[in-house]
Amino acid sequence: MESALLELRARLAEVSDVSRAAGVLGWDQRVTMPPRGTEARAQQLSTLGRIAHERFTDPEIGRLLDRAEPLVESLPYDADDRSLVRVTRRDWEKARRVPAELRAEMTLQAARGHHAWVEARRTSDFASFLPYLETNVELKRRYVECFEWSDSPYTPLLDDYEPGMLTSEVREVFAVLGPALAELVASAPEIDASFLRSGFAPDAQRAFSERVLGTMGFDGEAWRLDPTAHPFCTSFSNRDVRLTTRYHPDNLESLWSTMHEAGHGLYAHGIADSLSRSPLAGAPSLGLNESQSRTWENLVGRGRPFWEHWYGPLQEHFPSLEGIELDRFVRAVNRAEPGLIRVDADETTYSLHIILRFELEQELLEGTIPLEELPEVWNARMKELLGVDVPDDAHGVLQDVHWSGGGIGYFPTYALGNVISLQIWDVVRRALPDLDEQLAAGDLLPLSDWLRDNLYALGRKLTPQETIERLTGSPAIDPAPYLAYLGDKIASLAA
Ligand code: ZN
Repeated sequence: MESALLELRARLAEVSDVSRAAGVLGWDQRVTMPPRGTEARAQQLSTLGRIAHERFTDPEIGRLLDRAEPLVESLPYDADDRSLVRVTRRDWEKARRVPAELRAEMTLQAARGHHAWVEARRTSDFASFLPYLETNVELKRRYVECFEWSDSPYTPLLDDYEPGMLTSEVREVFAVLGPALAELVASAPEIDASFLRSGFAPDAQRAFSERVLGTMGFDGEAWRLDPTAHPFCTSFSNRDVRLTTRYHPDNLESLWSTMHEAGHGLYAHGIADSLSRSPLAGAPSLGLNESQSRTWENLVGRGRPFWEHWYGPLQEHFPSLEGIELDRFVRAVNRAEPGLIRVDADETTYSLHIILRFELEQELLEGTIPLEELPEVWNARMKELLGVDVPDDAHGVLQDVHWSGGGIGYFPTYALGNVISLQIWDVVRRALPDLDEQLAAGDLLPLSDWLRDNLYALGRKLTPQETIERLTGSPAIDPAPYLAYLGDKIASLAA
């Protein structure tokens, strides 16, 4: 291999090593670290973050890219080396646009904002959080100024999570989703789920979840599952995937939450070995990553075929389900019920919570809503969108962590993930005509293998649009399959 390419790879591998090491510290902080470790850990993470950023934005990377570009030109578009050079060029140019002081200020204020938010949410005191929110929004406006945009100042923020996507494109998707979802929610029947509200010993939940995880297609020595306060998934290589969950004895939610994180985990696990220690070892966007967590959580984990196999074992783990028929169980875990809290929302109402946040974020950024009026606006729109009355700010505008750390632009990816999951699912169904029979026999491997070979293995070689096009034949994000799926689901519940 030519020396410029070798040198580029070596430097990028170092950046990846430093970032993954920071990831280990971050995982430890959230899973095993004693609380008094917080201060020193923040410094360690900030040091590693700075080193990784400096190494990556080094002008020498630019010179190596200049030399490497002609060397890879004749390779196929999706060849590892050509993709590496192309994607690194894009990442490098973007990372260098933001001045180091602004980046440092954003990191610092995000930490302060997070701290203030924890306390404000606990006491439901929006006023105490307001100054931190003002600072973080102002910093985001300065960040946006580092970039050009064609349609909305929101686009550069969105681009951090959904590369190449325009705000106007999200608006178009949501303009179709919003009214259609509201109509579906209104037509959803009430379903008795009282038997899902007690009797689930955490030990049994863990044992059952691990049994399911063992069949999802992970190499048995490449993952682990640990309890934590706010579940997440991370990975330190495609052979070291860390899943986390939380158990509540009064419900079974940990099961779907674990399958959700395992979907993220399978993505990380399936990335081709040849992309290890490079910027290509990830998913192309948060929306695509989320499409897979949603696939395993909902399309698999709430589907009747899956439960035809797993409901018997579930009843063995949880005697409280004895006497509850499979049909009744499946209806209950697929019910649609408007509520106040996004993270507790069902599949049908979930994206409505996101649409609210997407609209508010654009207005915050553009300054069309005074920040101090945010709680009133939030409550009024929750009433409009979901028909619920917000009792206090802890259950309203203060419920999510994202804005406390300046994470504006992130929310839409959740709803886009839902939409994309069905676009891909339609393709999977055509490729695997016996999928339902396989799921009903407890055989998740044909699905897992297909997704790995056709999607996960690609890593970040292609853009999100190119990845979706490779799978579905069109680069567009199309809400029709998602709405058709939910429509069928609500209709079957009513039957
Ligand atoms: Zn997720």
